[in-house]
Amino acid sequence: MLDVADALAEVLRHTTPRAAATVPLGPAVLGRILAIDVIADRDSPPFAKSLRDGYAVRAADCQITAELLVVDEIPAGVMPQKTIGPGETARIFTGAPIPDGADAVVMQEDTTPSDSGRVRITDPIVRPGQYVFPRGREMRAGEVVVPAGTTLNAASIGVLAGVGRAEIAVVGWPRVSVLATGDELVDVGRSPGPGQIRNSNGPMLTAQATDAGAIVTDCGIVRDDPTELRARIGAALTESDVVLLAGGVSAGTYDLVPGVLQELGVEARFHRVRMKPGKPLFFGTAGNVLVFGLPGNPVSGFVCFELFVRPALRVLAGDTKRGPNAIQLPLSEAIAESNDRPTYRPAKLEVAEVGWAVRPLSWAGAPDLRGVQDADALIVLPAGDARFDRGMPVEVVLIPPPQAPRLDALGRGEPHSIIPGRILA
Ligand code: AMP
Ligand code: MG
Repeated sequence: MLDVADALAEVLRHTTPRAAATVPLGPAVLGRILAIDVIADRDSPPFAKSLRDGYAVRAADCQITAELLVVDEIPAGVMPQKTIGPGETARIFTGAPIPDGADAVVMQEDTTPSDSGRVRITDPIVRPGQYVFPRGREMRAGEVVVPAGTTLNAASIGVLAGVGRAEIAVVGWPRVSVLATGDELVDVGRSPGPGQIRNSNGPMLTAQATDAGAIVTDCGIVRDDPTELRARIGAALTESDVVLLAGGVSAGTYDLVPGVLQELGVEARFHRVRMKPGKPLFFGTAGNVLVFGLPGNPVSGFVCFELFVRPALRVLAGDTKRGPNAIQLPLSEAIAESNDRPTYRPAKLEVAEVGWAVRPLSWAGAPDLRGVQDADALIVLPAGDARFDRGMPVEVVLIPPPQAPRLDALGRGEPHSIIPGRILA
């Protein structure tokens, strides 16, 4: 049985970023990873420009109460026609090119109009370069301005637009198939019969994978039947980079998934990890396809996803900062547990008097998904008798807040109906 760190290393050993694709620049690239360095095609700004509405001046001419002759007017978007000589100035506006001869801008609030086309400077000290944004200050032609590997955010999209990239190369999104296995499962829209429960894992894992940047197909429920499992998993293997199976990987008579995977040629890499919840986790590969057999208990699936699947999806998407991100935080409440394996306990970050702290959530164990809704972290308790007093530091794995899902990833963006009025009191 592997430790969590070794199991993650084994997953990542088989995980390589997807091929790049060229896509139009737009909000759909938010969160995607740039595949090729982007270089500035010209200096920015392409000319020294004014940072204020005012007057372009020679700083040396601007003793307080100096009067300068206004020889030109330069709006943004227009090239200056005149060189500014001694005793001269040009009316200038924010974003307009600084004329030759001038080396500073006096803002209009620091001037008063004077007679016969002159202006009086009331700025007590005019330094050379003031309110001038020099040519190439933001970027020089030929410089890498957005490096390969960047997770694109709104500012990067603006920079890419600024350097004229209507199309960019990004690492492709991983394609994920989610299959929930179990004879006891019924779809969310159905009323469970005796002994049946609704399928929570399918929708939960579909949401987690979407949030991690994948294009996800929820393949629904598969019976604990070898023939059906073979057919449905076999189909998923042909059209996915990652297959997520939930349920059927423990040691029971109806836990058929590992055997079926073997028949399908999936090479088992590990089965079982020293952790709680999530011990039955299976991981295998079929060529480049990663196959995760997640335990059926929803919290086990949730935790295994955060520790192993999310990092793999981030690597597939090209992200070098793949996580999971662990930090040390003080406990805001004592915790005592005894376990034969390291235990991942749902927890909530909170601001205490001394800064961030973490509070364990009340939680009834691996089947209790309800108790996980508030979690934005998992406290990692070591194996054995773990006793931590209030204020003691513990290791915490962060669960990232949900990203607004990309509409193209969901395949639909229209709301079903509009609910009138306020929803939150
Ligand atoms: P298994 O890993 O198949 O042995 O399932 C472990 C537990 O998780 C059992 O109590 C199952 O009923 C439950 N379970 C399995 N799949 C799901 C699912 N998709 N949604 C909710 N509970 C599930
Ligand atoms: Mg089962």
